[in-house]
This record gives sequence, structure tokens and C-alpha cells, in this order.
Amino acid sequence: MAISLNPTVKDVKTVTDIYEKIDSLNQRAWDLEVTDPQEGMRVTKEAFLLSTSADLRQKYYQKGIADSLFNQAHFNLKRGDYQLALSQALETLSIYTDLKDRHRQAQTLRHLGGIYLSINEFNKGMSTLIKALDIARNLDDPIPMGETLLNIGMAYLMAGDSIQAMIEFKKSLQIFQSRDDIRLLTYAYCNLAAAYKAQGEYELFYQYLERASRYADQIGYDYIRNDILRQKGQYELMLGNLDTAYKLFQESMQLSQRHGFQADEVASAIWLSEVDYRHGKLQDTIDRLLDALVRSRKNHYDEGCLRAHQKLSLVYEEMSNFKQAYDHLKVFYELEKRINLEKNDLKFKTLETVYRTQALQSEARIIQTKNEQLEKEISERKWVEEALRQSEDKYRRMANLDPLTALNNRRYFYELALGEMRRVKRYHRPMSILMVDLDQFKNVNDRFGHLAGDQVLQWVAQRLQDFLREVDILGRFGGEEFILLLPETPAEQSHHVAQRLCQQFADARFEVRGELVTVTISIGVAAYEDDISLDELIDRADSAMYVAKDAGRNQACLWGTCLPIEQKTA
Ligand code: GH3
Ligand code: MG
Ligand code: MG
Repeated sequence: MAISLNPTVKDVKTVTDIYEKIDSLNQRAWDLEVTDPQEGMRVTKEAFLLSTSADLRQKYYQKGIADSLFNQAHFNLKRGDYQLALSQALETLSIYTDLKDRHRQAQTLRHLGGIYLSINEFNKGMSTLIKALDIARNLDDPIPMGETLLNIGMAYLMAGDSIQAMIEFKKSLQIFQSRDDIRLLTYAYCNLAAAYKAQGEYELFYQYLERASRYADQIGYDYIRNDILRQKGQYELMLGNLDTAYKLFQESMQLSQRHGFQADEVASAIWLSEVDYRHGKLQDTIDRLLDALVRSRKNHYDEGCLRAHQKLSLVYEEMSNFKQAYDHLKVFYELEKRINLEKNDLKFKTLETVYRTQALQSEARIIQTKNEQLEKEISERKWVEEALRQSEDKYRRMANLDPLTALNNRRYFYELALGEMRRVKRYHRPMSILMVDLDQFKNVNDRFGHLAGDQVLQWVAQRLQDFLREVDILGRFGGEEFILLLPETPAEQSHHVAQRLCQQFADARFEVRGELVTVTISIGVAAYEDDISLDELIDRADSAMYVAKDAGRNQACLWGTCLPIEQKTA
């Protein structure tokens, strides 16, 4: 693929063309997933090469790379190469995270969850799926949510909770029906069938399987067809129809081989061996199982290993080869113990999911309680003030405090700061001023009213107070501006303190009228330098604060290290 990209203006169009080509290759690869996954893999690898081609070296096409790796992970999962799928999905996730593509992030997390489940990492699988769900919930498109629910249902099914699995499958079915997405509907019907089978509801099982089967035929979806064939085969086996079962498993085997679905190949082989076994063909059974074992090991397909060892042990026992029977049984037990440990953990984990929603609610309650406590404290503080009022220095005290927040008012702060300043000058000690201004505070007033706004100011004052050391001096500088003086703290360190403070606010939630609100702050930091006055120092902090605002708010800016606004816009 020779594309010349000289950095001239007219070539900008060429770059765009290549990007478009990469996007369309990736899209085509994804569409091929249904009918010809091997061709899909080839096409998406081409997109990958193009995204990282020498011609684009100056600027790799990150989206192209991520889309391709996403596809590759998917194809590798279906092929049964779980380890490769895992590393590709992780790589994909980090690129989409960089690109801030929430939609693809959710899909990749779902994928990742599916891969973890396939390698029996149930806990990781479940927690990854929950993360996917958290993101999917906030997307406009409901499909990623539906897909994630499908995987979560699968996890429940694997953990033996078919009832909960069914609930999840039905939720996803509803989503897919509303979108008329046949590919996903096929998936949902197929999984629902499996859940009914697990419950012994064979009539419903067969109904849903037939529906899935019709859809799969309609769009030529061999991956699902494969699953359907084996499910039908198991059903026939259960009814004792050995020949029908054999044909179905054989068909699944051929389909797997044609598309290179290795895990499916193993699964078909194991089921075929079961038919051989029931026909009394013991040596054929063993050959098939040993072959399945080798393939399962290669692909870290634990479920395959487990079944193969278990059956081998049985067959060897029947052949009176007790040494072999014992060896296989031992491995089987060890594997089963490991997998079941994980699965029991999963049951615990899924319970945890259920409680998560409740946990969120109680978190909100805790914040509310804290808030009430805060209000109580403030009224207590007012009571103390009342008491002070009656004392000798009552007037002085009152004159120093801001009535709303009970912090030092501007005048009194200034007085304290001057005292500190004299000490600093004399002993050449470091000291810094932080100017804190609430971001978009007008919005809070507009949305919730002025009284609620006052409450937020009280809450902020309390948080600031809690954050500070004993020696720091805090004051309310104006409306929604606070000022801090940090004695003995040089520039860099103060900047760090300010950054931490910003982070703390960004992480906190405050309940206003039943709604959880985040209040972010912008901070300007200025450190004392020889021979500047307190006014100059405060001015510097103030102008640094405006630079922080200008840079997007919710951040701290150190005077002298960030560009003044005029210079930046010039
Ligand atoms: P930003 O600082 O990010 O530029 O946006 P902002 O919305 O905070 O803008 P600005 O600093 O210009 O506005 C401050 C607002 O704070 C205006 C005023 O309504 C509100 N405010 C100031 N003092 C009080 C007060 O004592 N109580 C309440 N409820 N609101 C106050
Ligand atoms: Mg302001
Ligand atoms: Mg403000």
C-alpha cells in the first residue's frame, strides 16, 4: 500500500482519505463477523497495518488501531485464543480511554468481561461487566447496555443462577427488539434457550432455540448456528436419539473447522466422544478426548480440559486401565476445585451487584446525615457566638466573624495575615496565599435558589476548615471567594496543597434539595517573595485564580508559572 504523504496542504485531504478507508475496512470486517470471520480478521488486520503504516508514521491513526484491535480481540475470542484476545482488548481499552470514546469504552469493557468469563476468571469478568454497565447506562444508544446485560446473564448462567440469568436476558431482549437488531436478537434468543434448558423447561427451551435458529439462518450467522447445533444435539442425546445427536455435533464440528472456531471444535469433539461412548466405541472415544485435551490446553480452555479429563477417567476405568483413570480423575478434581472456587466467588459477587444499588442509596443517605450534622454544628456555633456575645469581647469577636460561614471575615483575615507577614519578613520564612473561588456558583443559585446557595457556602467553608492545618489561616474573602494563608509553605508545596484541595472538592458530593451536586473550585496560588506587600501577594493569587478559571476551572494555578490570560490568547 503505497501512499505518499508529504506534509503539504493538499495532502491533508489524502490523510483524511486514508482515515476514511481505514474506518470502512474496520466496519466491513465487523460486518463479516456474521458470515466469514476469517475474512473479517484479514480485513481488520489490513486496517491495522494501514493505521500504523510508515506513511502515517508522523501520526498513527489511534482510532483505526483501536477499532482494529477491538475486532481482532473479538475474532480471537470466537476462535478460542483467549490470551491473545485478552491482551488485545486491554490495549484497545487504553486507546479508547485516551480518545474518551465512552461508547467504545463500554463495548470494550463488555468484551473484556466476556473474555474473563471464558477463561474462568469470574470475579474479574463480573466486575469488568459492571464497569461496562456503569458507562453504558449514560449513553444515548441503548445497545451497549443490552449487550452488557447479555454477558451478565451469561455470567449468572455459568454460576448456576438461571433465574437471574433469564431476567438479564429478557432485559436485553427488550432492548434489541426495540431496535430490531437481528444479530443481537439471535444471541438473546439463544442464551434465553440455554437458561430455560438449565431450568428443565424443555418446551420453552426448544421454542426459543427454534426462533434463534431461524434468525441465524436468515442472516447466515454461523457462530450462533454452531451453538444452536450443539444445544439441539444435547437435547437429542438426552432423549436417547444418538444418531440425530451425532449428526448435529458432526455438523457443528465442520462449521467450527471451517471458521477456525477452536473452542467450538473442542466442544463438538467432546460431545461426539459422548456419542461414541454410548455406542460403546471406547477407543474412538479416547482418541477424540485426547485430541480435545491437547487443543483445550493450547487455548487455555479450562472447561474443555475439565470435561475431557472427566470422560477419559470414566472410559479408562471401564477399560480397567486404573492407573490412567486415576491420573485423569486427579487432574479433573483439581481443575474442578479451582473453577468452582471461582464460581462460588461469583455467586458472592453477583449478590454484591444486587446490593450495589442499595449501597449507592445508603451512600446518599450518609451524605445527607453528614449534612444535617453540619447544620447542627453550625447552629451550635451560632449558640457559642451567642454566648460570646454576652462575654466581654463579644463585640470584637462578632466583628471578626463572617455571619454566614463563621469564618474570619475579610477584614479580620487581613489583620491576621499582616501579623504573619511581619514574622515572615523578619525571619525569611516561606508563606503562601491561596485564593479560592467556586466554579459556576451562579448556576447553583439559579437552580436551587439563594438559600440553598448559602447552605452550599456553609458546606464549603466547613470542608475548607477540615482540610486545613491548625496553623493555617482561613477567611471568607467575598461572596463565594475564600482566602487561605499557609505559613511555612513554599510555592511548589502550596501548589500541591491547592491541587489536592481541588481534587477533594471534585470528588465530593453535596446534597441540595434531594439532588447530589458537585461543587468544583479554582485556586490561584502565590508564594511570598522578599519585599512584596500583602496586597501585592493577594493580587498575585487573585490573578493566578483567574488564569485557572480561564484554563477551564477545577484546577489550581501557581502565579508566575502559568501564562497570564492576555499572553495566552495572543
Ligand atoms: P466562575 O467563578 O466560575 O466564573 O462562575 P460564577 O458563577 O461563580 O461567577 P461569579 O464568581 O461571577 O459569581 C459569583 C456568584 O456567587 C454571584 C452570586 O450570585 C453568588 N454569591 C455571592 N455571594 C453569595 C452568598 O452569600 N450567597 C449565595 N447564595 N450566593 C452568593
Ligand atoms: Mg467570584
Ligand atoms: Mg465563582
